[in-house]
Amino acid sequence: GLVFILGSACFCTWLTRRFANEQKSQRSDLQRGIEHNEFVNYYQPIIENKTGEWIGAELLVRWHHPRHGLVLPMAFIPQAEETGQICALTLKMIENAANEKLAVMTMKKPFYISVNVTASMIANKAFVEPLIALIQQHQSLRHNFVLEFSERDSFANSDINELKQAMQRLRDVGVTWALDDFGTGYAGLSTLRELSFDIIKIDRSFVAGSATDSVTQSILSNMADMGRTLKCKLIAEGVELKEQAEQIDALGIPYSQGYYYAKPMPFSRFIAKFKIYSMQ
Ligand code: C2E
Ligand code: CA
Ligand code: CA
Ligand code: CA
Repeated sequence: GLVFILGSACFCTWLTRRFANEQKSQRSDLQRGIEHNEFVNYYQPIIENKTGEWIGAELLVRWHHPRHGLVLPMAFIPQAEETGQICALTLKMIENAANEKLAVMTMKKPFYISVNVTASMIANKAFVEPLIALIQQHQSLRHNFVLEFSERDSFANSDINELKQAMQRLRDVGVTWALDDFGTGYAGLSTLRELSFDIIKIDRSFVAGSATDSVTQSILSNMADMGRTLKCKLIAEGVELKEQAEQIDALGIPYSQGYYYAKPMPFSRFIAKFKIYSMQ
């Protein structure tokens, strides 16, 4: 019995240590990645349904890992959020975007870049202060810069008043706000009104049923009404099929994002496509 108890105690200690070591090494892996600029900005366009015009792009990070190759965000973003490394990572991405975006700025109309953040990042001075400095340093960020945070994780444990203040602070330097994954989380209508988002992105789970399911269609048409009432730009996320694109437009949702139009792509490919498109 005693041997068993001692044995499991040791096993538990071993497990805990192993787990702690793994976390520590992931942490330093991320750290090295940030320092060595292994994170690459991918861009996915936002499309105006009526005209097909590209009005902006969401910035989606990819990790060019020296050993694992191209790594998608869901494999490292949760860990980076847990350790707080997401702040340094996001600042670096925005700085890269600020430099990349200049090329886009020289071509015709205003074009916006949208970056993903969480409510806890916005509440963090160590993130917000350098972010404001970056915005003030780069002309390309000063007017057409959007921050989006997800309804999934952002409202459950944040104080709405604090969030509102933090958002205002960034509005003061020109930031526009988008609510991501709308329909999946906790934001009630009163929260939406209070935080007065400029953009609402309808979660792709609604878009999936948009061509076939009549209940989903009536939800989407109500969302379109709501968007008009709140004076928000509504974007349908995850548009993959022609039929979905057509339904979304018919239901009165003005903007779309999704594989049907374009996948996220590195800057060079984005700019090439964008050039072709804007010369038409
Ligand atoms: P999200 O913010 O909802 O981003 C949209 C995700 O949907 C992206 O996945 C995009 O590639 C994917 N997507 C776009 N169009 C379609 C479509 O038509 N069909 C389908 N099935 N998917 C589509 P990605 O790039 O893998 O990013 C996943 C999530 O990781 C993002 O979800 C976001 O929450 C997070 N993420 C990505 N980049 C960043 C970042 O730089 N910072 C932070 N904090 N989170 C990020
Ligand atoms: Ca997003
Ligand atoms: Ca999300
Ligand atoms: Ca989303």
